[in-house]
Amino acid sequence: MSDSKYWEEEWETAPREVIEQKQLESLKEIVGFAYANAPYYKRSFDEAGVKPEDIKTLEDIRKFPFINKQTERLTQGKGSMVGELAAVDEKEIIFISASSGSTGVPTISPFTQKDFDEWINIESRLMYQAGMRNTDRYMHGINFSLFVGGPCVLGAQGLGAMGIWSGTLPSDRLLYIIQQFQPTFIQTTPSYALYLGETAKKKGINPKELSVKRIIVAGEPGGSIPATRKAIEELWDAKLIEFYGLSDIFGACAAMCDEQDGLHLAEDHILVETVDVNTGEVLPDGETGELVFTSLRKHARPMIRFRTGDIGYVTKGRCGCGRTSAKIHIVGRKDDMFIVSGVNIFPSDVETVLRELKEITGEYRIHVFNRDYTARYGVEVERSESADKDEELKKKIVAALKSRIGVKPDYVTVLDDGALPRAEHKAKRLIDERGKEDDQAILI
Ligand SMILES: [Zn+2]
Repeated sequence: MSDSKYWEEEWETAPREVIEQKQLESLKEIVGFAYANAPYYKRSFDEAGVKPEDIKTLEDIRKFPFINKQTERLTQGKGSMVGELAAVDEKEIIFISASSGSTGVPTISPFTQKDFDEWINIESRLMYQAGMRNTDRYMHGINFSLFVGGPCVLGAQGLGAMGIWSGTLPSDRLLYIIQQFQPTFIQTTPSYALYLGETAKKKGINPKELSVKRIIVAGEPGGSIPATRKAIEELWDAKLIEFYGLSDIFGACAAMCDEQDGLHLAEDHILVETVDVNTGEVLPDGETGELVFTSLRKHARPMIRFRTGDIGYVTKGRCGCGRTSAKIHIVGRKDDMFIVSGVNIFPSDVETVLRELKEITGEYRIHVFNRDYTARYGVEVERSESADKDEELKKKIVAALKSRIGVKPDYVTVLDDGALPRAEHKAKRLIDERGKEDDQAILI
């Protein structure tokens, strides 16, 4: 391995025309392959009156119908175990992952050997971009049971780093492993990075003195919230790098570089569009909407125009790190967004405000509910040692939320430090009592 700044320099620094030319070739191939081999796509393209030959430019993908999470659920098990979106025979499939099913029936994600090998190379590239080298030791504190994030550890090993397959062991064990094996990199969720660091402190271990130099976070938006990122970096005296993945496609599809401003997308594997959440109309780069991904090279189950449910925006142009791939900037999950007095609010907006106030611990819970036919919200926080009297603190929090978000909460409840549940994996910080609607199915 060279001492290059890049894993695949030619591709990572390629001019936009080169990126788009390669994407167009892959798009034509995968759309043709999906149409010829996946019963669902044959039916839905015919229904929409589109054919693979209609793809002459990248923009032509806009003529094709969307799919979403519900499409996956409702086509699984039809025709075969992997279902009607799959485009290969089951004997070609060598790996299958499943989502946690926290919002419904678990969705599966099949890989051929080639899909799997190419995916792991993407993980190596993103980890190399995150600063990992063959001298590093990497603790993968990610769930291994069926979860697509598990095999990402092979990406670290692929670049020559030492893989430490800790998974999600209890925090005492993880701290012991960190002391024993002295990893320079660890990966976990942002909530758990905070929890583990705080747990270490309570046990008399100073996280800043541990071996960890960089923390990869994924699974929640915290890594892109400046105040949360700062809190984790200060707690561990380590640099934070955010990864973003979708169980429907890959473990990680995009990751931060040292600039910490957006996540470089693996554009050789994914074509991204941003669409209006309500109308599905394609939005220009830089505008915020729902991200739609088309997998360009995954043959086991091609994902053509998959509505990710993630809200964000896309920027293009050469990054400070020299890379030219598009960057995605995630704002939040569509399902978590709530509207109060006409203002779209994400839990991450509330978190941005709360993490900046020294008088509270940064842990919080948002309660969204309907009263008088309108949505309202309240927050629960925890006082830290330096806190003012509760009434003063409440006023300060209400004022900060009002000035930054535009609408104030109906109430603020101040609790003792430690009263709110700490996340072992993904934090449940939004209690939504609006009578949630299920995803609307996109199904032909
Ligand atoms: Zn960059």
